Order: sequence, then C-alpha cells, then structure tokens
Amino acid sequence: MLNVAAITTGTRALGPGLRSVLWVQGCPFRCAGCIAESWIPVRPATAMTPGEAAQALSIRPDVRGVTFSGGEPMEQATGLSEVIRLMRQDRELDLICFTGYRLERLLDDPPNPGVPNLLAEVDVLIDGLYVRSRDDGLGLRGSTNQRVHHLSGLLTDIGYDFAGRVRAIELQQAGDDLLMVGVPDPVLASAFQAAHRED
Ligand code: SF4
Repeated sequence: MLNVAAITTGTRALGPGLRSVLWVQGCPFRCAGCIAESWIPVRPATAMTPGEAAQALSIRPDVRGVTFSGGEPMEQATGLSEVIRLMRQDRELDLICFTGYRLERLLDDPPNPGVPNLLAEVDVLIDGLYVRSRDDGLGLRGSTNQRVHHLSGLLTDIGYDFAGRVRAIELQQAGDDLLMVGVPDPVLASAFQAAHRED
C-alpha cells in the first residue's frame, strides 16, 4: 500500500504542461525550511493501492505528465513504480520525481529494493536536500545544491528550464484545506507555513 499525503489531478506548477502529482507521506530527512513539513512524519495518511492511485491520477485525459514528490518518494519506490507503470499502459506520460537522496546514493546503495524500478521509470530526477541558504527563488529545484538529472532524455530539449525558470505557485482547494502546489520562494513558503500553524 502507498501512504499518500495528497494528490492533484491538474497543475502547471510542477513541471512542463498539465500534470498530475502525488505527494507521499513520510520523509527520513528534516531539512530546515521544508515547504512540506507536515508531510515529514512517517504516520498513516491516505492508504491507496497502486491501482487506486493510478486511477485517481488518470482522471484528466489532457494530463501529459506525472510528478512524484513528498515526503520522500524513494521510501515508497515499489508502489510508485507500479503506479506509473499502470498509468503508462493507457497513454504516454513523462515522469518527474523529487528526492532528498543524491542520485549516486540511489544507484550505489539504494535505501530499499524498489528504488531501481522507480529510477527506471523516471525521466527527470531532482535530487538532494533542501538548503534554505541556497534557495535562489528560481527553478523547479528548491535550492541550488539540488540537481536536475535528465535520466531518459525525454524532457531535455523541450525548452523547459528546470533550473532557472520563474517559479509558479497554485493554491488549490483540498477539502477544507488549501494545497500549495509548486515550489514557492522562501518568503512565500514561510508565510504559508505560518498561516497554517495559526489554523
Ligand atoms: S527531503 Fe524534501 S520533503 Fe524531506 S525534509 Fe527535505 S525538503 Fe522536506
């Protein structure tokens, strides 16, 4: 089973084109300034089978890609690789995945046996821990120490600047709560977190 923090079935803030996004619950890291601090604890959130998650993410026919974030996707690599494999049975989709692990660690000493299967599906991997002092407010990566790896080459020449683009944020209604989608600049992230803590 997957432990899912949130899902959106349509955003333009986390990669090229219209995308579905799955955020997992739970992360072994504790980066200061993490924009998803409520998704760091390893605690039960929404349990979904890979089939259920794939179905939920596939609702919109105009979605061109999927993004996995969190939390730490590599901690749920087996389930997530099954999600994208099921989705790709019906149509072509690109896959972007965020991770706090460095790619070298994932290749040389994977934290769990599902990692190679997920890496085999990923087109773009954005790796490394978030470092607030190196957040330049640009790009899909949160800080300049994080790297954009074009593992497949599928998204290399599409004119999407992963590292230097102006960031975009969407606020989406999620039940009674607001879901912030995208990579915010540090000021916006702090304001959003402070507002949530006051709730
Ligand atoms: S790796 Fe990502 S989700 Fe985990 S604590 Fe760091 S910024 Fe937050």
